Amino acid sequence: MMDYHIHPSYSADAKGTLEEFCGAAVDKKLREICFTTHLDSDPMRDDGFVMVRGERISVHDPSWFEDYENHVRTLGEEYFPKGLNVRLGAELDLYPGVVEDLPDAFHSTEFDLVIGSVHLIEHKAMSVREEAYSIFKKYGLEEVGNIYYDCIKESLTTGLFDVLGHLDIYRRYGEEFLGSGVHSLWESHIDDLSRMMKSCGVGYEINTSSMWRSLSETMPERDFVKALHDRGIQTVTIGSDAHQPSEVGKGISEALHLLQESGYSEVSVFSKRKSKSIPLDSFK
Ligand SMILES: [Zn+2]
Ligand SMILES: [Zn+2]
Repeated sequence: MMDYHIHPSYSADAKGTLEEFCGAAVDKKLREICFTTHLDSDPMRDDGFVMVRGERISVHDPSWFEDYENHVRTLGEEYFPKGLNVRLGAELDLYPGVVEDLPDAFHSTEFDLVIGSVHLIEHKAMSVREEAYSIFKKYGLEEVGNIYYDCIKESLTTGLFDVLGHLDIYRRYGEEFLGSGVHSLWESHIDDLSRMMKSCGVGYEINTSSMWRSLSETMPERDFVKALHDRGIQTVTIGSDAHQPSEVGKGISEALHLLQESGYSEVSVFSKRKSKSIPLDSFK
């Protein structure tokens, strides 16, 4: 199995070195992992930094990209003989104007995979309860859906990323504040969304973190996955969004199962931003 969404301690909200995550992945008998450290560059927020050996470094400083890349590639060589493929990735925070704000080193780093994720609406994070509340109070259900999916659709044309991260992230606090309508919020956007994903060659991930955090289903949830399958979206990665080594690989087998039930016969892995399909049958 693989885990294609992992945050090592370069992200301030994550614990565990790259080595510790690799060790945990081997213990859990994973065959492939992709580190996807946060790349947050919204100048209106104060989280545009990474941690390197306990020191805060601006996300725009090229030195951390070099450190991260070298470190991941070295571990890749060390762990390949132990049966683990280690990939270099990033989770890019998408917001209007992200193209202008990106660090130069982002473009010169040879990532295996870039996940594009919308976390923010008007610079407030939907993944943080208080911030989510202020957004939802201001806009209400339908408008939140319009702003969120418009941002995704606009970002799709940039070519900056390969898969969309945790597509219905607004569910994390959305149900509490906006009611059960959050479960069908994607329905009026799915045709446009899937058409654009296809024309831009972008897939999506099944993010399992919601299953053990506050929600019972993956992101996107079951019906949404099925709808994307039925509209011909073939490229799908699976990731736990682990922020500590003990979370690596969590929920991956359930997600593989979900893919199968939704009509998929393959799951995607990436190398140098090119996808490869692995038959789901090979995990039995
Ligand atoms: Zn995210
Ligand atoms: Zn993440």
